[in-house]
Amino acid sequence: MTLPCGDAGPQIAGAVAALLRDVPDFPQPGIVFKDIAPLLADAKAFGAAIGALGDHVSGCGPVDLVAGVEARGFLVAGALARDLGCGLVAVRKAGKLPPPTMRRSYELEYGSAELEVPVGVLDGMRVYLVDDVLATGGTLRAGADLLAQAGATVTGLGVLLELGFLDGRSRLTGVAPVHALLRV
Ligand code: AMP
Repeated sequence: MTLPCGDAGPQIAGAVAALLRDVPDFPQPGIVFKDIAPLLADAKAFGAAIGALGDHVSGCGPVDLVAGVEARGFLVAGALARDLGCGLVAVRKAGKLPPPTMRRSYELEYGSAELEVPVGVLDGMRVYLVDDVLATGGTLRAGADLLAQAGATVTGLGVLLELGFLDGRSRLTGVAPVHALLRV
């Protein structure tokens, strides 16, 4: 049996792996959805995961804000920001934030999507960006580019899970250091 692997070591990778639920054919046929609900519901494991991400945030230098991508990224970002004693910013799907906002579109496997951030809280800030899952990397890439467009410096990128076979990490080369607690 191979040990679970991730950027914070096999112990935290194993804890995350044990509390992920695979949901075949959701939200569409052929996709295996990685449900983080059991991890979020386990106080000890969720606390350890946030602590491990926090170590990476600290290793990336000073940070003013943690940014989370809608929607599950919000859950990670909120806990992380509270742990680190820094602020929080929501990277939202287009049309949800009140103006003024900045918007960026990006390609999905089929079609495209748009992300938005609020104007006025990001200029000059050092921001660490998180999400639950790194798949093709399009979402984190667009989020990081948008934060930079809004005047922020992106210090690092963190996820609970990376789907390594999709090679999303290659789309993030040169953007900021990437940290995934579990890579499958
Ligand atoms: P991508 O832009 O392809 O890296 O996709 C990442 C975004 O899509 C994240 O916000 C994830 O929440 C979501 N996502 C993509 N694939 C999955 C999956 N297999 N299970 C759960 N969430 C996923």
